Amino acid sequence: MSEDCIFCKIIRGDFGTEFVYETENTVVFNDINPKTPVHMLVCPKKHIETLNELEDKALMSELLQTVKEAAKKVGLKSYKTLINTGKEAGQEVFHLHIHVMGKV
Ligand code: 5GP
Ligand code: ZN
Repeated sequence: MSEDCIFCKIIRGDFGTEFVYETENTVVFNDINPKTPVHMLVCPKKHIETLNELEDKALMSELLQTVKEAAKKVGLKSYKTLINTGKEAGQEVFHLHIHVMGKV
């Protein structure tokens, strides 16, 4: 948990954000500014700033499994995934997240 991280606050439930899907170590919620009709963000519950700091292989696996399960849950058969790593690549929120984008 990082006190000044917006995603940690969302994950802690500070804003009452609805979770699309959740596992022991991951959570999925809708992007506030969707670029596609369905635009979800898959995050580890633990504060990890970028993909470069993700070392836990079990968590890597759980994150991708969560992508699949969340997509299935909302009826997305076809979708794009994106991870921005670092400011120059367009990362704005420094709590690791996988964008899942598509339309049902
Ligand atoms: P990044 O550019 O870091 O890969 O993506 C950050 C994403 O988080 C953006 O698509 C942005 O719309 C989304 N976002 C930023 N602040 C919030 C927020 O408070 N709530 C939600 N649900 N999404 C947010
Ligand atoms: Zn965080």
